Amino acid sequence: MKIQPLERLARTHTCGELGLDDDGKEVVLLGWVHRLRDLGSLAFLDLRDRHGVTQVIARDNPALVEAVQSLRPEYVVAVLGTVERRAPESVNPKIRTGEIEVALREVRLLNDAKTPPFPIADEGPVAEDTRLKYRYLDLRRSRMQRNMILRHRATMEIRKYFDEQGFLEIETPMLTKSTPEGARDYLVPSRVHPAEFYALPQSPQIFKQILMISGLDRYFQIVKCFRDEDLRADRQPEFTQVDLEISFATESLVFATIEPLMDRLLRLIGRAAKYPFRRLPYAEAIAKYGSDKPDLRCGMELVGLAEAFQGSPFPPFRAALDAGGDVRGFVIPGAAKYSRSQLDELGELAKQFGASGLVWARRPEGTPQSPALKTAGEDAIRAALDAAACGPEDLLVMAGGRHYQTCTMLGQLRLHLAKKMNLLDPDRFEFLWVVDFPMFEWLEEENRYEFMHHPFTAPLESDASRLEADQGSVRARAYDLVLNGSEIAGGSIRIHDQALQRLIFRLLKISDEEAKLRFGFFLDALEYGTPPHGGIAIGLDRAVAILCGESSIRDVIAFPKTAQAVDLMAGAPSTVSAKQLRELHLKTN
Ligand code: ASP
Repeated sequence: MKIQPLERLARTHTCGELGLDDDGKEVVLLGWVHRLRDLGSLAFLDLRDRHGVTQVIARDNPALVEAVQSLRPEYVVAVLGTVERRAPESVNPKIRTGEIEVALREVRLLNDAKTPPFPIADEGPVAEDTRLKYRYLDLRRSRMQRNMILRHRATMEIRKYFDEQGFLEIETPMLTKSTPEGARDYLVPSRVHPAEFYALPQSPQIFKQILMISGLDRYFQIVKCFRDEDLRADRQPEFTQVDLEISFATESLVFATIEPLMDRLLRLIGRAAKYPFRRLPYAEAIAKYGSDKPDLRCGMELVGLAEAFQGSPFPPFRAALDAGGDVRGFVIPGAAKYSRSQLDELGELAKQFGASGLVWARRPEGTPQSPALKTAGEDAIRAALDAAACGPEDLLVMAGGRHYQTCTMLGQLRLHLAKKMNLLDPDRFEFLWVVDFPMFEWLEEENRYEFMHHPFTAPLESDASRLEADQGSVRARAYDLVLNGSEIAGGSIRIHDQALQRLIFRLLKISDEEAKLRFGFFLDALEYGTPPHGGIAIGLDRAVAILCGESSIRDVIAFPKTAQAVDLMAGAPSTVSAKQLRELHLKTN
């Protein structure tokens, strides 16, 4: 068949909308050849567009049957025909158009196509590098189309919601100055100003605070942010945030703004969120779950066992407690029956997560059993089993050491087991606010404190008096929203007082000079009547991935980069011409 122009041909319907009500209509459908079935004297063509698939049948006309037989998957065609009710035995309840088919009157080839490197119609697995290289084809597949559509629905819902709540969407610059979010900047050399650079924003943080100073009251933006980090599996060098800032904000006001939005997003997939969400101080999150983004779907809370082993000579726990550390453990439900090798495997896992050792205990028939029974003493083991409420079917695992390290090691083991035991129900949505984060984090190698969130975060009022005397103990008015073990949003109440902001820079060992150079404009702005304010940013990619049931954010980003920060389709990054380098006053070697 020869390729023909579209001319004035207009589609009457999409491939996803015809039903019994359309029986007898003359229609024009435009789309891609999804599947072909050749039955000799008749031929079926499944025609696809973003809206769905419609079955087209060619029969009683050898030239038409032959025309369909000459097509190939992914050819672009126009179909002209009549809607007909399908015979009851050929109704396909799985697709929206499954009750009808289109009897073909004419087919026009609008464009042909090379054989794709992977089939579009069949949803089988394809290597991710191949999918990314041919992203235009990957995006034709139904899973990716569904993800893009849901992402669109989510962003529309977000815009509608914030508009209703009196927020203004305001754009902030992409070519700007460094914002300290703790990552490396992507820099853009200036041609006009030799040896000077713009930074791509790590977030609009400073600008949104300035918008509050400007009296704009409530700001939001769906915005790209750029962070040049060593990429972990789940990071992208450019990612999207739903960024917001509120004047006269308190934590409760920020939470009350975000919680109904989460509910509205879940309603897009037929779910709902129960709010208000739980709130958990950071210290408790670490102590109970060994993580600052705990997954609440699987129980198995960590418990403190220091008291149980207080009088016990068991060497590893004795050493930990004498050094001011901790002994903690958790109960694995139904694991009393673990075999020798399963118990050994648990010990191995704990070592991989950094433990020096893991001790188990159980009491299937009431009498405690544990490899540490003799050295630790039966009373101590019994007290530990009691403290952890370990039933006859269960197994208690315990470890000792420094508090934080012991908690996070057990936390990793907890999550690993929860996944293995299928305890993380994908249909449950457990939201949690983690609050009262430490303000600073000690950097051992650099012998200094670094901010935990960013340097504009306010300290808890009750802790502010200790800023100079006991910096490490100060907690921040920072909060994270956690959903099923993923941090999906983070923010804080900000410093709105210039003197406090200067003190924080000083405590972070940012000199007055450096502060002036980096944030001088912002420090100046703070002096002109800054309202108390606070905000948050939602990681849109992760939030949408959860809605889509995808584990990788790459599956909800149209054109993502690989874990090596490469765009396999466009071939970026790439070298540039010597002329471009000269114009930018740059030299490479
Ligand atoms: N700018 C912060 C971030 O990107 C969010 C916030 O504090 O609002 O994580």
